[in-house]
Amino acid sequence: FLDMLLWAEIEAKRERATKTNMKLAKLPYVKTLDQYDFEFQPSANQRRINELKTLGFVERSENVIFLGPPGVGKTHLAVGLAVEALKNGYTAYFLSAHELITMIKENIQSGKIHRKIKSLSKPSVLIIDEVGYAQMDDDVAHYFFQIISNRYEKGSVILTSNKSYGSWGDVFGNNVVATAILDRLLHHSTTINIKGDSYRIREKKKAGF
Ligand code: ADP
Ligand code: MG
Repeated sequence: FLDMLLWAEIEAKRERATKTNMKLAKLPYVKTLDQYDFEFQPSANQRRINELKTLGFVERSENVIFLGPPGVGKTHLAVGLAVEALKNGYTAYFLSAHELITMIKENIQSGKIHRKIKSLSKPSVLIIDEVGYAQMDDDVAHYFFQIISNRYEKGSVILTSNKSYGSWGDVFGNNVVATAILDRLLHHSTTINIKGDSYRIREKKKAGF
């Protein structure tokens, strides 16, 4: 009986921790990998996603990069993997590249940038969404590099982008920094390149718009 009680206690504690970690992760929404329609988007390789779902990549501090045009489910899949990690006791933190850029600029101003960069190396999984829409100046690109560099072989990064790697020089406004970022990001990584129609537009069409 005591054994059962202890297990129930441990289980309850774990559930509370997951709930807290879920909140701290700041996910824009909660969607699971099961909710993703792979038949609609065959280039989102289901076999590889299922492999990622086993969380070996988190265990090994490897990265996952989703590339593709808007609406193909990059954020959905990134969130789905984060949810999987959170359910299994890992921590995560989600932010858009736009939020990251604003955060970097504000913290340079207030002199807290080093502390902030350090805090971004803590979560097991860091999700940076929508890299490529907002351009970065040299300062921001430098600190972006710092974040990736600090996490290299220490923690996973999940990143989504609408831009292929060849255009990252433009995104970071600097080919040398972009190359250095890609070098670390891609060393231990999986790239899922999604090519297809937007799911949002499909839903609109179905609704008759
Ligand atoms: P992206 O980040 O690539 O622009 P999102 O992940 O934001 O796209 O997807 C847009 C919306 O469509 C979200 O609500 C997402 O859940 C949904 N969605 C996209 N692709 C699929 C899919 N293959 N199956 C189910 N829902 C999808
Ligand atoms: Mg998105």
